[in-house]
Amino acid sequence: MGLFDKFKELTRKVSEVENNIYHEKRDYLEIYERNIELEREIAERTEELNDANKRMFTLQHIWDMMNSSTPLENVLEAIVNSTQGELGYMHCAIIRKCVDEEGEFLRIIAQSNDGLIDRLNNFIGSPGIQTRRLNYSHESVFADTMRQRTIIQTKSIDLSLSSVLPDLPQETVNKIISNQPVKSVIVVPLIAQKQEFGWFCVFTAREELASAEMDFLGLFAKQIEMAITIADLFQAVREQAVTDALTGLYNRRYFEEALEKEVQRAKRQKQPFSIIGIDLDYLKKINDTYGHTFGDLAIKTIADVLKSNARSVDVPARIGGEEFNVLLPGINSEGAMIAAERIRKSIEAVEIDTIGHITGSLGVATYFEHSEDVEELLELTDQAMYTSKRNGRNRVTIAEPVSETSWQEIAVNTFIDILSKNRIPKARHLSKELCLKLKAPANKDELSKDSLFTVADMLTKLYNPMHTSGSVKNKVLMAVTLAKRFDLPKEDIDNLKIAVLLYDIGNLMLPDELLQKTTPLTDEERDTIKNHPVIAAREILKPISYIQDVLPIIENHHENWDGSGYPNKISKDEIPLTSQIILILDQYFALIEPRPYRSKLSSKDALAIVKADAGKKWNDTLVKEFISLIEHDIV
Ligand code: GH3
Ligand code: MG
Repeated sequence: MGLFDKFKELTRKVSEVENNIYHEKRDYLEIYERNIELEREIAERTEELNDANKRMFTLQHIWDMMNSSTPLENVLEAIVNSTQGELGYMHCAIIRKCVDEEGEFLRIIAQSNDGLIDRLNNFIGSPGIQTRRLNYSHESVFADTMRQRTIIQTKSIDLSLSSVLPDLPQETVNKIISNQPVKSVIVVPLIAQKQEFGWFCVFTAREELASAEMDFLGLFAKQIEMAITIADLFQAVREQAVTDALTGLYNRRYFEEALEKEVQRAKRQKQPFSIIGIDLDYLKKINDTYGHTFGDLAIKTIADVLKSNARSVDVPARIGGEEFNVLLPGINSEGAMIAAERIRKSIEAVEIDTIGHITGSLGVATYFEHSEDVEELLELTDQAMYTSKRNGRNRVTIAEPVSETSWQEIAVNTFIDILSKNRIPKARHLSKELCLKLKAPANKDELSKDSLFTVADMLTKLYNPMHTSGSVKNKVLMAVTLAKRFDLPKEDIDNLKIAVLLYDIGNLMLPDELLQKTTPLTDEERDTIKNHPVIAAREILKPISYIQDVLPIIENHHENWDGSGYPNKISKDEIPLTSQIILILDQYFALIEPRPYRSKLSSKDALAIVKADAGKKWNDTLVKEFISLIEHDIV
């Protein structure tokens, strides 16, 4: 082989090697490129996984908040901030559809904290978008999502903005749009129990979102729906518990709680507060003439007047059927009289369909000025209101100063007298303990009212072991409410209260065998038992000079309307009304308590028996009032 051939051979080999190198290089490049591709794919998948993880974590976090007792606004705040922050959208807001007397409107109830709203506010000016009443246009993306019940992504930011803020000039809208990077808005309708109630809005710098992402936003919206529904339910339950269904005013329970807090505040800050008591005049006549629906309408009218006259701190409440109280924090009697007069005039001014005009009788009492005992203050308000009734109705009366000796003091002294002088041998073993209770009540502020009821309950248990503790207090409350329905003067009511505490005390002188007997009584035994009103009035209580006016009430508490009672066999108007009130209460409470010879009756069955005795033991009017008291659950 010549040199040339050798050279050729060498060149061919070189080219072969080169060729090989080229191919290998190409292979290598291919592999290299594939690797890069793979790495990119791995990175993308990892990112997707990270995103999915973030979403899962965010959802988990919100779930945890909803399962704890986190307030709704904090849950919503967490939702919008994580949507914006962790999930990386531009902005996020929750909007709620509201309705008031002016119609439908929108309100932003949560928004992410990213400065977008601040920037928007700069353009819009005051008031800012958060505090504005936004327009609910039926030609908007909001209405569209509701109609279609689907998530909508819109690039028409300007149209969306103009639909909620129609008064915004077009050039301002243009300026807003040109100044920010948001390219589209995703609007998700919020629906609960088939009711659309708002929107979850997500603002993004992207024009399109993948459908999986949209689905995820839908999932987020479900969390919001649930959080809001739960919060609404709680709110409804809370409101039901403190408001009266007919009028929407606060109920008695709420009023009592507010009053208790107000007493604490008044004591702490040495500031007065006042109570206005209002009772609708002639409601019975309205009921009888036009029917209960119109009676209810009259009650609602008073409630509306009270609502529109109340300051935000006042507590207007429906206390009973047609009785209302307003608590006026920080107001003295002068201010309360002005407020009461304004209420009176407003009630009188309303013209009600069919009924025409109604009126109310009002009473006013002020803490510190009239009493520092809250129960007494309520009672004084009531008394002042009844004075308005007696003086012709449709007027306001201020409470009178408390008389020198209150009924409680008289009752306490009476019990102490009976016990310390051992007028009842059976109570001898208790006399020291009970006297101590009466002389030094557990809470000095409470006066001795509660000790009085406790002592009366304990003495009653001595002859009636089945006596329900607390029922003496109930009886006193009911007796007073009944007496007021008959316009009895204050002195009679005070005597009645003392009589309720003492009327059966004669039983303590009867032999135990007789009181506990489970078999039928003989005539002789029955006569002995029938003697208890006389024993109480003429033996035990007779020597106590300051309760002489109470004695006839007690002595006659078993006289029947038709003259068939005992011991004096008097009838009708010969019987003091106060005695009749005790009789009906005594019989009703006896029926709902068990006895050795029978079990206790339900309130309904007891009422039926009380009703059946109308005309015999008591007259129809008393029965009617008593039944209305129990049925309206007034005390
Ligand atoms: P007065 O001017 O003395 O207050 O006379 P009145 O007719 O309003 O009589 P009173 O206050 O003694 O009795 C109130 C009546 O109101 C008794 C009861 O039948 C009725 N009432 C109580 N609650 C309601 C209620 O919710 N709706 C209606 N329609 N009537 C009620
Ligand atoms: Mg009335």
